[in-house]
Amino acid sequence: MAEQLNAFDMAQKQFDHVAKLLKLDPGISEVLRWPMREYSFRIPVRMDDGSLRVFQGFRVQHNDARGPNKGGIRFAANETMDTVRALATWMTWKCAVADIPLGGGKGGIIVDPSTISVREKEELCRGWVDVMWKNIGPRNDVPAPDVGTTPQMMGWMMDEYSKLVGQFTPGVFTGKPLGGGGSEGRTEATGYGVIYTVREAMKHLKMDSKKSVATIEGFGNVAQYAAIGFIEMLGGKVAAVSCWDRNDKKSYTYSHKAGVDPRFLLTIVDEYGTIGKAKAEAAGYIVEDGEAWITKEADVLIPAAIEGHVNGDTVKKMSSRIKIVAEGANGGVTPEADEFLKANKIFDIPDFLCNAGGVTTSYFESVQNDMNYYWTKEEVLGRLDTKMTQAFNNVLEMSEKEKVYMRDAAYMVSIDRVVKAMQLRGWF
Ligand code: NAD
Repeated sequence: MAEQLNAFDMAQKQFDHVAKLLKLDPGISEVLRWPMREYSFRIPVRMDDGSLRVFQGFRVQHNDARGPNKGGIRFAANETMDTVRALATWMTWKCAVADIPLGGGKGGIIVDPSTISVREKEELCRGWVDVMWKNIGPRNDVPAPDVGTTPQMMGWMMDEYSKLVGQFTPGVFTGKPLGGGGSEGRTEATGYGVIYTVREAMKHLKMDSKKSVATIEGFGNVAQYAAIGFIEMLGGKVAAVSCWDRNDKKSYTYSHKAGVDPRFLLTIVDEYGTIGKAKAEAAGYIVEDGEAWITKEADVLIPAAIEGHVNGDTVKKMSSRIKIVAEGANGGVTPEADEFLKANKIFDIPDFLCNAGGVTTSYFESVQNDMNYYWTKEEVLGRLDTKMTQAFNNVLEMSEKEKVYMRDAAYMVSIDRVVKAMQLRGWF
């Protein structure tokens, strides 16, 4: 069985491991093991049937030494303070490794968004802002969409905040819709960012990208653009993608003898990343069970669905040809699988480096909001490529200098940057 760890215990464990490698002062470690501020609050909403329902909301600000806290707001039935704490902590490391001037935050509401109406969702979004507005802002804490929340919801939240402070303030939330203060390139950002790091890893390992094959888990936002990027930017082939089929309530792997064509699959996938099975089969796709993707003959493995799917059990089914694991998904590789990758000298691009393209483009969104001047998609993606390439190479240098695995190196780079920022600000 794959191991189950409380997310915050895991975040602290990872931190403690690297704090030891960095020989961090125990006092500084104590600061960074915990969030700086946590908000837990109740949001009353008048429901469509006239009843009053009270929802539990959270916001955690882990560390803002390098800049305003940054991180999504999740609407999830199983949300807990510990999950939000862990995700906020990981955001601090992600922003630092990408070298964007932001700290780490995360928020949430305990609710299954599919069980409430559009009006109730809007009330809930505005209610979250009504409680939190004094503690967020473009110079303070900038939330964004996450699991269960959408660009439209960010639009409502930004509107509520702007009304409360009495001025149009688009930079308070990112991930807004295009035309409503959003940035070009945000849709492609995370998937393309994954591919920029894969390209750099291939250069380092002296692999020929045009002869390379990738196998990808998922076919949602990240996987779609990772697949497109792997083919169109690197000239490689995609052996398989997979998805959770919302109709059949099980997952499937999709492959094709000529290789997967993500542009075609984009025409038959729904907004939740479920591929139209009958249409795919009619186009010659082979449909297998959901775990088959990991067994495909490939050079690059890209988990881009949900956490924990490359684990102690599944990792052993991976093709022995795999040279790179690029973690598009957050927490895609469990600590047990990590040990297997290390032992087999497989090059890992850790999640908070690999999928930092999304938050980097969110940062670009707030920069554009501040200037009230908007870049083209090419400009956004060009800047993203520069940032991701630099981030990858900083981590690779640390890994070679300290002779540590890429995940440890990424933590070392980011923790070191946050500690330096705290010291420069004279926090201790
Ligand atoms: P998404 O909801 O758009 O897509 C998720 C995909 O995974 C869908 O195709 C879904 O069918 C599939 N899936 C879900 N459960 C599955 C299962 N059991 N087996 C196989 N496939 C399954 O999500 P996304 O935005 O693409 O995010 C994917 C991962 O990347 C998540 O871990 C997310 O936290 C992480 N991430 C996303 C972004 C972003 O900008 N979208 C940024 C950073 C990290």
